[in-house]
Amino acid sequence: DAPANGKDCTRFDLEKETELRFEVEAGEAAEQVELELLSGLAEVFGSELNRNKKYVFGPGSKIAVFTWQGCSVNLHGKPEVAYVSKDTPMLLYLNTHAALEQMRKQAERENERGPRVMVVGPTDVGKSTVCRMLLNYAVRVGRRPTLVELDVGQSGVSVPGTVSALCIERPADVEEGFSVQAPLVYHFGSTTPGTNIKLYNKLTSCLAEMFSQRCEVNRKASVGGCIINTCGWVKGSGYQALVHCASTFQVDVVLVLDHERLYNELKRDLPHFVRVVLLPKSGGVVERSKECRRDTRDEKIREYFYGFRGVSYYPFSYEDDTQLKLVPVTPGRDLTYHVLSVSSVDDGDEGARKSIVEIPVCGFIVVTFVDTQTQVMKVLSPAPRPLPRHTLLIMDIRFMDMK
Ligand code: ATP
Repeated sequence: DAPANGKDCTRFDLEKETELRFEVEAGEAAEQVELELLSGLAEVFGSELNRNKKYVFGPGSKIAVFTWQGCSVNLHGKPEVAYVSKDTPMLLYLNTHAALEQMRKQAERENERGPRVMVVGPTDVGKSTVCRMLLNYAVRVGRRPTLVELDVGQSGVSVPGTVSALCIERPADVEEGFSVQAPLVYHFGSTTPGTNIKLYNKLTSCLAEMFSQRCEVNRKASVGGCIINTCGWVKGSGYQALVHCASTFQVDVVLVLDHERLYNELKRDLPHFVRVVLLPKSGGVVERSKECRRDTRDEKIREYFYGFRGVSYYPFSYEDDTQLKLVPVTPGRDLTYHVLSVSSVDDGDEGARKSIVEIPVCGFIVVTFVDTQTQVMKVLSPAPRPLPRHTLLIMDIRFMDMK
């Protein structure tokens, strides 16, 4: 264990088809760990390592260095854990890639579209990692697959609370992951699909529609197909969202990680031509606590504003005058008894130079009941239906009709 650059250094000699797993301690004060390939060939989640290059992993990283042929590596620094495992499902994952590649070849020959693959399973089974590997293997053989990210809690593409699609043009950087250039991102607004499952399904359909449109004009994208990463919520509406996704994307293959019941349910509920495959999870996947997930989310947002590793951004800070601005409100129960002004703005005025606050009102109504399920509200109004205008402004003032 010769200390290099003042850090501890441990050498690992790996036999073929084994992996070195290590974790870097979490927390700001934690020391980074450096990885160096000395001889042989090795990869990290499907991205090949260059020899004699030092790869730096920051706090909280959980990494597996896998070798098909055998290799020697050095770890500099003090990983929280580091051990070699012979027991990995990598061969099954590689076979899965080989089967998908066959489908792409066939698509090429027969002028069809390539495989659309959905990766599902509960939390912490390595879904994102399997997606990354399959995308890496595909791009390494010259394909241009698309990553569809539906995990609103832990998005690999954009900030949390979004769903997105990203065309993969080169393998993921070993340290930083896929280069995120020009992703297609939709706002969802929450870290769990359950907050608004209708919107979640709608956005899934929007992504499917956009992807299909791209496939029509881009043959490489069509043959490359897509790999869809999903949320770990696999029961109730979460399960229905998976079925919806399979249908709207017209997926050909579903990879179920480590969940036999989910596998059986999907086999039962999806059309017979969809291939549903059960795959084991890797013993290396590390369970992440609530705090750890929250930290990862914070980090993603921080990165968006301040940059990542070598790249620093300098965000601006300014005050926005909200006192003259209106915000749309979804009627909720807390709207009950509020007095609302009926603005005289008409559709033609909208987007015109005058803001709604500068336009007179033509009357008032009081909300007497809100049905949040159907999004219908009952109102007290001096005029018969329908309301002359539909732009309503909420007052702080409430009125209870006691008479
Ligand atoms: P989520 O619950 O967020 O959907 P997931 O199922 O997508 O999680 P991953 O994000 O793929 O899981 O993996 C969880 C963590 O385990 C990641 O930090 C990843 O780097 C790590 N990991 C995955 N596979 C291995 C492995 N073979 N050895 C060591 N660490 C691994």
